[in-house]
Amino acid sequence: MKQYDYLVVGAGLFGSYFAYRAKKNGKKVLVIEKRSHVGGNLFCESIEDINVHKYGAHIFHTSNKEVWNFVNSIVEFNRYTNSPVASYGGALYNLPFNMNTFYALWGTKTPEEARMKIEEQRKASGIVTPKNLEEQAISLVGKDIYEILIKGYTEKQWGRDATDLPAFIIKRLPVRFTFDNNYFNDKYQGIPIGGYNKLINGLLEGIDVRCNIDYFSNRQSLSLLADKIVYTGKIDEFYDYCYGKLDYRSLRFEHEILNIPNFQGNAVVNYTDKTVPYTRIIEHKHFEFGQQPNTVITKEFSLEANSNTEPYYPVNDEKNNTLYKKYKQIAEMEQKVIFGGRLAEYKYYDMHQIIEIASKLEI
Ligand code: FAD
Ligand code: UDP
Repeated sequence: MKQYDYLVVGAGLFGSYFAYRAKKNGKKVLVIEKRSHVGGNLFCESIEDINVHKYGAHIFHTSNKEVWNFVNSIVEFNRYTNSPVASYGGALYNLPFNMNTFYALWGTKTPEEARMKIEEQRKASGIVTPKNLEEQAISLVGKDIYEILIKGYTEKQWGRDATDLPAFIIKRLPVRFTFDNNYFNDKYQGIPIGGYNKLINGLLEGIDVRCNIDYFSNRQSLSLLADKIVYTGKIDEFYDYCYGKLDYRSLRFEHEILNIPNFQGNAVVNYTDKTVPYTRIIEHKHFEFGQQPNTVITKEFSLEANSNTEPYYPVNDEKNNTLYKKYKQIAEMEQKVIFGGRLAEYKYYDMHQIIEIASKLEI
């Protein structure tokens, strides 16, 4: 008999939540993590008494009451509502695309005026069935918004022309004909009071966890420890890149402590102009309505992932999706390995989707 029922590779949200469920079901679980800490990209570090989202801003949002109740049973969430602002050419615009944005750009005061403006621009573009991100964006919000608020940001973020990117990426953002700057349409949203580490530590309570262990540095002996493996790392790496490498986008974060209480008056400001090298600046204290005397900001720079940088975003274009399908085919034949999460399923999952998917797995 093996020492553990499950070896979970990766202590991100997927791995931590799976381990939590397995323990509840009476299973013995070992979680290994190659970073020096648990939490994956949700990890926060306390700097100046502010929970700094070390791997990018994370706002939990869901319309699924069970998911919301579950995460709140581990840690209570606050009522933070994400309302990013976009900066372009020295002017500020509200996001997501709504009546405030339309008014600032065009002076349109009614939903009908705004709709007419968009329709006029959509017609002029001649797009009938959008085939890529650019066409999808122009169909949804017209050419002006595409040029000012989408094209530059998107091409920086993905390192590809907007015409080479899938349409679904832009459909993540609401388009609203009301004066409502809430970035999400979901029923529930917020930030764990005291930071995301409370969520992850709550999930991993009482579970064997070993950090600083890369599964691939000792694959054979680690695999012998458990009956089954739950793998949340990159799927192409699991198969030693046998069909070739999948593309991922990486990020570089520049964190700064400023001796002022409030730098930008908002947690998230996007820089949509291509000439600004970063995509957004995060001011972390605003996620928890912080009143600390100083502030911490993070500039986010996007780059292509390579063997020395962390993979954050799967690039779900046609070429990569086709390659992923080949890996998925062999993954489906595995009897003793469960693949889950953003990297192992090569999908642009948000946190609530991770919980939804992992909650359905048979343990
Ligand atoms: P990860 O967090 O990537 O966890 C995988 C873990 O496995 C990592 O800790 C990694 O180090 C470890 N690992 C990998 N390979 C190995 C190995 N060989 N051996 C040992 N360990 C290994 N979602 C939202 O809902 N709202 C948001 O606002 C939001 N903002 C985001 C902003 C950014 C910048 C990013 C990158 C993501 C954001 N997300 C957001 C998505 C969210 O981060 C993911 O849904 C979630 O973290 C996925 O969890 P995961 O466990 O699949 O992946
Ligand atoms: N996007 C944009 N302008 C913005 C914000 C987002 O064009 O000001 C586009 C961009 O292509 C981005 C996508 O919308 O990748 C999804 O945005 P989201 O904020 O969901 O990105 P994430 O937080 O996942 O990085």
